[in-house]
Amino acid sequence: MAWDFETEPEFQAKLDWADAFVRNEVEPLDVLFRGLEFTPPDERLREIIDPLKAEVRRQKLWATHLGPELGGEGHGQLKLSLLNEILGRSSWAPIIFGCQAPDTGNAEIIAHYGTPEQKNRYLRPLLEGEMFSCYSMTEPHGGSDPTLFKTRATKDGDEWVINGWKFFSSNAATASFLIVMAVTNPDVSAYQGMSMFLVPADTPGVKIVRNVGLGGEPLGEGAHALIHYDDVRVPADALLGGEGQAFAIAQTRLGGGRIHHAMRTIGLAKKALDMTCERALSRQTQGERLADKQFVQGYIADSYAQLMQFRLFVLYTAWSIDKHKDYRKVRKDIAAVKVIMPTVLHDIAWRAMQVHGALGVSNEMPFHQMLLGASIMGLADGPTEVHKITVARQVLRDYRPSDDVWPTEHLPKQVAAARAKFAEYLEHEVGNL
Ligand SMILES: Cc1cc2nc3c(=O)[nH]c(=O)nc-3n(C[C@H](O)[C@H](O)[C@H](O)COP(=O)(O)OP(=O)(O)OC[C@H]3O[C@@H](n4cnc5c(N)ncnc54)[C@H](O)[C@@H]3O)c2cc1C
Repeated sequence: MAWDFETEPEFQAKLDWADAFVRNEVEPLDVLFRGLEFTPPDERLREIIDPLKAEVRRQKLWATHLGPELGGEGHGQLKLSLLNEILGRSSWAPIIFGCQAPDTGNAEIIAHYGTPEQKNRYLRPLLEGEMFSCYSMTEPHGGSDPTLFKTRATKDGDEWVINGWKFFSSNAATASFLIVMAVTNPDVSAYQGMSMFLVPADTPGVKIVRNVGLGGEPLGEGAHALIHYDDVRVPADALLGGEGQAFAIAQTRLGGGRIHHAMRTIGLAKKALDMTCERALSRQTQGERLADKQFVQGYIADSYAQLMQFRLFVLYTAWSIDKHKDYRKVRKDIAAVKVIMPTVLHDIAWRAMQVHGALGVSNEMPFHQMLLGASIMGLADGPTEVHKITVARQVLRDYRPSDDVWPTEHLPKQVAAARAKFAEYLEHEVGNL
C-alpha cells in the first residue's frame, strides 16, 4: 500500500527553509527589479543575487530536478513540484533556484539530445545562470499547428542556412542563444521533416524586428520577439539531435515546461487565496467582517477546493513523470493539467480581486497581472483547445464501442444478462412458490 501524502521530514525542512527564504530574501527583488529577471545582471545586481544563489546551492536546492551530472540534486519532478509551489509566489525565485522557464525546458532538451560539445558550450553556462536562452518555434502565421511552419534550413556544404520568420520568441533580446525549429525536408511529413538548431544570438542575420509586449506594457516594449532569420549560417554541428527530430524534441521540452508552469501556478494561486483570507478577516462592512458574509465564505471555500483539486492533480502528474521517466507516457495528465490551469488561476485571482474592492482592480495590487497570467497560460505552450483534443483522444483510447445498438449499461439488457446468469436460482425460486 504505497499511497502516501507525507513529505519526508528532511525535505520538508528544506521546503520550510525555502518558504522563509523566498518571502524574506527573494520577494523584495520582485518589487525592485521586476522585468530584469531575464536580463544578464550588471555588477550591482550580481552583488545581490549571486550570494542568494550560493545560499540555495548550500541548501542543496539548486536546479533540484536535474541529475548530479548536470549540476542538480536529482530530486525529480515531485520534489520540484513541492518546491515550485513556493517559488511560484515570486517572479525572481525560479532564477535564484536555477529552475526558470524557458531555460529549464531548453536545458532539458540539450541534456537529452545534445552532443558533449553542445552541452559544454550551452548547457553548463545555462545551468550556472551565466546565460539565458530562447525557444524560437511559433511563426506569425501559425502557432498551434507546427505543420504549418515555413522557416527553412537548407544544407550548404558544411553549413545550414536558416531563413524565415518567428513570433513570440520570449527573451530573444537578452538570450545568448536561440533554439530554432525549421523545415529541413519539405518532401516528407512535417513530423519527419523538421529539425532543431542551436543558434548563437549574435550570428549575422538574426534580426529582432520588434519586441512585442503583453497587454498593459507600453507599445514597443516587451520580451516576446518577432524575429527574421535572414540567411543565418550555422555549422553542421549546430543541429540538436538528429535531422528530422524536431517534433520528438519539442514534445520532450513542452512536456516538462507545461508541468513546471502548473507547479508554479499552485504557488501563485495560493498567494491569491492567502490575500483573500487576510482581506476577509481585516475588512468590516455593515457591522461584520467580510469573512462573516456568506458570499465571501463561498468565495473562500470555492478557491480552496479548486486549489486543492489542482494541487493534487499536479503532484500526482509529477509523481507519474518520476515513475515513468518519460513525459510521453504521462501526456494525457500533463495535457489535462494544462487545460485546467488557466481556469484555476483565473477564478482564484478574480475572487481575490473582487474581495479587495477598488483596491483590487488598482495598479497597487497584483491581481490584474495574475488575470493576464491566467490568459497567457491558456495560450503559451499551446492553446487550451488543442490540449483538450489531446486529453479526449488519450481518454478514448481506453474505451471500445458497444458491439450492439444498445449501450452496455442499458438497463433492460443488464436485467436480461443478470436473469440469464442466475437462471437456475430464479427457476428454483419460482418452483418453490
Ligand atoms: C506569454 C507567451 C509566451 C510565449 N513564448 C513563446 C516562446 O518562447 N517561443 C515560442 O515559439 N512561442 C511562444 N509563445 C507562442 C505560443 O506557443 C502560441 O501562442 C500558441 O502555440 C498558440 O499559437 P498562436 O498564438 O499562433 O494561436 P493560433 O494557432 O492562431 O490559435 C488561435 C486560437 O485558435 C483556436 N485553436 C487553435 N487550434 C485549435 C484546434 N486544433 N481546435 C480548436 N481551436 C483551436 C484557439 O482558441 C487558439 O487560442 C508564447 C505565447 C505567449 C502568450
